Amino acid sequence: MTNSIMKLVRDNIRELKPYTAARHEYSGNAAVLLDANESAYGEYNRYPDPLQWQLKFQLARIKGVPAENIFIGNGSDEVIDLACRVFCEPGRDNVIICPPTYGMYEVCANINNVAIKKVLLTKDFQPDMPAIWNAVDENTRLLFICSPNNPTGNTLNRQDVLQLLSSFKGIVIIDEAYINFSAQKSFTEALTTFPNLIIMQTLSKAWGMAGLRLGLAFASMDIIDVFNKVKPPYNISQLSQETALFKLQDTAVVNELTRMTVAERNRLSLLLRGLAIVEKVYDSDANFLLVKFKDAGKVYEYLTGNKIVVRNRSKEPLCDHCLRITTGTASENNQLINLLKQYNG
Ligand SMILES: *Cc1c(COP(=O)(O)O)cnc(C)c1O
Repeated sequence: MTNSIMKLVRDNIRELKPYTAARHEYSGNAAVLLDANESAYGEYNRYPDPLQWQLKFQLARIKGVPAENIFIGNGSDEVIDLACRVFCEPGRDNVIICPPTYGMYEVCANINNVAIKKVLLTKDFQPDMPAIWNAVDENTRLLFICSPNNPTGNTLNRQDVLQLLSSFKGIVIIDEAYINFSAQKSFTEALTTFPNLIIMQTLSKAWGMAGLRLGLAFASMDIIDVFNKVKPPYNISQLSQETALFKLQDTAVVNELTRMTVAERNRLSLLLRGLAIVEKVYDSDANFLLVKFKDAGKVYEYLTGNKIVVRNRSKEPLCDHCLRITTGTASENNQLINLLKQYNG
């Protein structure tokens, strides 16, 4: 392990002797498997590959990232939790998040008793660089960047993110859950330059597999190794691995659905802009829109009362009177627009 990353890993984790599962110790092609106390009968009777190599090889082809630089988690949530547990000493270290942003960073830090420093985005939802540098101290281990950001939908300035990557001494986590919907490119090409970079992506959004719970992390082998050491041995089920492998074969379908979703998002945005009750529709690089209403609370009640549920984000900083609306099918979006046209609160 390179020195700089090793120094960031908690002492107990660096010294951890990991559990060796049966499928770790023997991964050849034995004819008789009597090593793992599995049932000898049935369809899903065997433990799955703990390191999900087939799935990783397929992802490597699609993402242009070597398989050994890929980690697969039980949703991105597992990756966020691992990052907190591996790099942050509870009660001592802290992480920086930039609200308004994804809620799980704060929850995972809280669960692990890791302090959170909140540095709000600027009014145009960009990193507040001087404020971030101000917040960093000797115990700051993680910096969470979400781009395109949830719930604002915008991409963060590439130059700012690169500057954070090259100057911050801890781990920078760039959450690219919505990258497929963005016109901006991924940071994957920066992986070879920055050993302290973790890029998170997910199969839950553009890939349409939220039910399978598959979150991805791309990082240096040092980081991947330590994640593999700490994760539960069989964190991804056989069913998830097989189904994802099958679905990942058809990239053409996903590309077409993503293109359709972006077209629908843009159409929905235009229609919303035409409504008198809408104050602002923020530009989006994701599959959702942040929309500012004259009275978001009332509109939210009206929509749920009529069986359409959106996300009320109006309590989030900088999101006064904002609802977050996911792009649905053309028909769902039309239902939403028609309902909003009839609103007279
Ligand atoms: C939806 C989302 C994820 C995906 O989480 P999974 O656990 O992989 O389903 C990650 N980050 C952000 C910002 C998201 O909005």
